Amino acid sequence: MPKKEKNNTNSALNVQRGIEQPSQINPNVVDKISGFKKSKITVDEICNGILHGNRTFLSRGITLIESALPSDRTEAQKLIQLCLPHSGDSIRIGITGVPGVGKSTFIETFGLYLINKGKKVAVLAVDPSSTRTKGSILGDKTRMETLSNNDNAFIRPSASKGTLGGVAQATREALILCEAAGYNIIMIETVGVGQSETAVSQLVDFFLLLMLAGGGDELQGIKRGIIEMADLIVVNKADGDNITKAKLAASEYKNALHLFPALANGWIPDVLTASAIANVGIDDTFNEINNFVTLTKANGYFDKNRRKQSLNILTDTIEDSLKTKFYNQQLISSLMENYRNKILNPKHVEETVNPYEIAQMLLNKYYNSYKKQ
Ligand code: GDP
Repeated sequence: MPKKEKNNTNSALNVQRGIEQPSQINPNVVDKISGFKKSKITVDEICNGILHGNRTFLSRGITLIESALPSDRTEAQKLIQLCLPHSGDSIRIGITGVPGVGKSTFIETFGLYLINKGKKVAVLAVDPSSTRTKGSILGDKTRMETLSNNDNAFIRPSASKGTLGGVAQATREALILCEAAGYNIIMIETVGVGQSETAVSQLVDFFLLLMLAGGGDELQGIKRGIIEMADLIVVNKADGDNITKAKLAASEYKNALHLFPALANGWIPDVLTASAIANVGIDDTFNEINNFVTLTKANGYFDKNRRKQSLNILTDTIEDSLKTKFYNQQLISSLMENYRNKILNPKHVEETVNPYEIAQMLLNKYYNSYKKQ
């Protein structure tokens, strides 16, 4: 592992260490977590810990979910099965915006505000680049320090499985465990520059986009599609000399939003200004979310959206499993390697390889290997 990656992992772990809960359900079991007998803790014990709201067990459960080992996968699936009946009872909020827009600062202030209102807040992240990028979201231990030290908060950096699909799946499962542990507000943070937003929008009930005043959305690297996804736009850092600019930007975004077709769920996305540092707009943001939840629960769209997401889980899980099985089959993986080279580096310039034919041949080989069994 390159040095940089290792440092990243270390800083992420520091975040977790800072929020470990002192109370333990069963000291012997908890000792095993930090000791060498890690694998001896049963899934039932982890589940029991999670259901008691113990963050050490919650962290352990999420680590199990993120593991790529096939044996861990079986255990992880059992854990999810056990936690599922205790999940679902939260508001899931996606938060996005370009690096530097103030996501961590906003989440910290908003999280503490929610905790003051009696909520339990979990913060997860979807950042497939986290193994590569220095200072990845939530990976920096100085971020959200006050929130992470609060007993009613749980902060987990992005899984680092590499592919977006892998990270999103791990986050989707982490969300179930967090809900089972009693967290009733789950925030999922992502960087608003790529594909991650689409993945996150499939995991959440409400999608919040943080923007800055000054500089159009192109300049901020925000794609039109992401703006269309937003249930609320917050023009952030509306403090000091920036207040007037922020208000102006907010009214411009409001006008722009009117050009988008109305949402099927009846919700009209609004634009607010806020400042986490000056504690402005935090209350308004919560009111917007509450209004959204009230409206969509009343008109059935809240549940409809969750059911749509469930259907996605079904198809995604099947597709992921089939793909993994196919590509991991020894014969297929060696043939794939062979043909990949042939396609990318033909011996002669005029040599053409038909990718459709090869795909069909490989699929046939795969199906036949099952027929023989
Ligand atoms: P992230 O990369 O989107 O998570 O952004 P951060 O939360 O790390 O904030 C980036 C920078 O903006 C930091 O220097 C913050 O102190 C600053 N910042 C964040 N929120 C505000 C705010 O509400 N007002 C002002 N003036 N600065 C802020």
